[in-house]
Amino acid sequence: MKFEVDPFENATKQVNDACDILGIKDEGTRTYLAMPNKMMRVKIPVKMDNGKIRIFTGFRSQHNNDRGPYKGGIRYFDPEGGVEYMEREVMALSSWMTWKCAIANIPLGGGKGAIYFNPKKEKLSKSEMSRITRRFAFMISEIIGPQKDIPAPDVYTTGKEMTQIMDTFGKLHGNTHQPGVITGKPISMGGSLARNVATGLGTAYCVREAAHKIGFTMRGAKVVLQGFGNASTFAGEYLEKMGCVIIGASDSKGSIINAKGMKMKDLEKWKRSKGTVVGFPGSTKVTTEKLLTAKCDILIPAALENQIDAKIAKNLNCKIIGEAANGPTLPEADPILYKKKIFVIPDILANAGGVTISYYEWVQNNTGQYWGFVQVAKLMEDHLMSGFHDAYDLSIKKKIDMRRACMAIAVKRVVEAFELRGIWP
Ligand code: NAD
Repeated sequence: MKFEVDPFENATKQVNDACDILGIKDEGTRTYLAMPNKMMRVKIPVKMDNGKIRIFTGFRSQHNNDRGPYKGGIRYFDPEGGVEYMEREVMALSSWMTWKCAIANIPLGGGKGAIYFNPKKEKLSKSEMSRITRRFAFMISEIIGPQKDIPAPDVYTTGKEMTQIMDTFGKLHGNTHQPGVITGKPISMGGSLARNVATGLGTAYCVREAAHKIGFTMRGAKVVLQGFGNASTFAGEYLEKMGCVIIGASDSKGSIINAKGMKMKDLEKWKRSKGTVVGFPGSTKVTTEKLLTAKCDILIPAALENQIDAKIAKNLNCKIIGEAANGPTLPEADPILYKKKIFVIPDILANAGGVTISYYEWVQNNTGQYWGFVQVAKLMEDHLMSGFHDAYDLSIKKKIDMRRACMAIAVKRVVEAFELRGIWP
C-alpha cells in the first residue's frame, strides 16, 4: 500500500543518507540497517463490557539490537492512514529509536509498539483498557524481557499501562517481580525520579546549547510550543526557567499566540480546567500554520509527525527548532531549513532525554539501587551534551545539517557493533 507520506520511507532515506556520508556502499549492509530485525503483528481478542468480542490489532517492531536490548514505547492511537499506515509508522519509530539510543550513547537498541485504537476518543472502561493492555502484553511476552526488549510509554499510554504489562509479564514468568521488563513506571513500581520531566528537560538542554553555538542569549528568547502534553510542557517549563518567554502554544483543539508572553504555570492551570489552551486570556486563536511560522527564536514541535513540510519550512521565522516530537519534519524540508540557517536539533537527539532516563530506570531496577533526581538528570545531560557536541563538530567539518550529522554518528556506532558481533550462524 502507498501512502502520501510514508514514515518508514523517510526513516529509510535518513539511513541511506547516513550511509552515503560514511561511504557505506554495500547494499546488504544498507538494507540491514534500514529494515527492522522483526515485525510482530498481533490480533488481540478482548471481551468488551457489553459481552461482545472485539478484535484489536497490535504491533511490536524490533529494529536493531546490536548495541543492546530493543527499547521503545508502546502507543495507543489511530493514525488517519489506518492500520496499514500504523504498521509503517511503528517500523519507522523503531528505526529512530535505534539511532536515538546510539547518538545518546546508551547500550540499547531500537523498538516500538502500538495498538490501533484511540482511548481518548473511545472512552473505554478501566477494565476494558486493562484487558486490552494485558492481552497485548501476553501476546508479545515471548519477544520482550529485561535483556531482550524493554517497552515504555508513548502517545496515550502511561505508568498505569506499564505496570499492567510488568505484572502480566511477571505472572507469565513464574509469578516473579520483573521491573526491568518495562520503563516509565510510577515511582512506587520502580520508576526513576526525573523520568516524567526527562524528554522536555533534555530538549531544553539541547536548545540552550544550540543558542550558545549560534550566539544568542536565552534571556527573553521567544518560544513557540506545538502540543501541550508531557514533552512540550516540561520543555516549556525548563526553557522558561532558563529565561525564555513562551509566546505560542497549541493542542489538538487549536493554537494560540500572545507576542507579549504567557506564563507556563498559568497556561497549565488553564489547560487543566478547560481541557485546552485555546481561550487563554490575552491570547489570539490562530491556525496551525500561523503558529508554526510565527516570529520567534525557538520552535518546539512536540505533538505529531509530518508537521514541517517544504511550504511551512520556507515560511518559518525562527532560529532554532528543537524537535521534541518524533518525525515532525519531512525530509523535503531539511535542505530548506539548512539554507535558511535555522539550527535544527533533530528528534533523535532533542527528545533522547526520555530514553536516556529510561535506561537509568532499567539500570536501577537491575541493580536494586535507587538514585536522586539531580544525579539522574545530570547523567542524562552528560549523554545528550556529548551527543550534541559530537554531531555539531561533524556538521561543521562535513558542512551538513545536525540531522545528517547525528544519523551518521549513530549509524557508525551501530555498524561497529554489527561488525564486531559478525553474522551468526
Ligand atoms: P502527550 O500525549 O502527552 O501530548 C501530546 C500533545 O499533542 C497533546 O497536548 C495533544 O493535545 C497535542 N496534539 C495532538 N494533536 C495535535 C494537533 N493536531 N495539533 C497540535 N497539538 C496536538 O504526548 P507526549 O508524550 O508529549 O509526546 C509528544 C511527542 O513527543 C510524540 O511525537 C512523542 O513520540 C514524542 N516523544 C515523547 C516522549 C516522552 O517521554 N513523552 C519521548 C520521546 C518522544
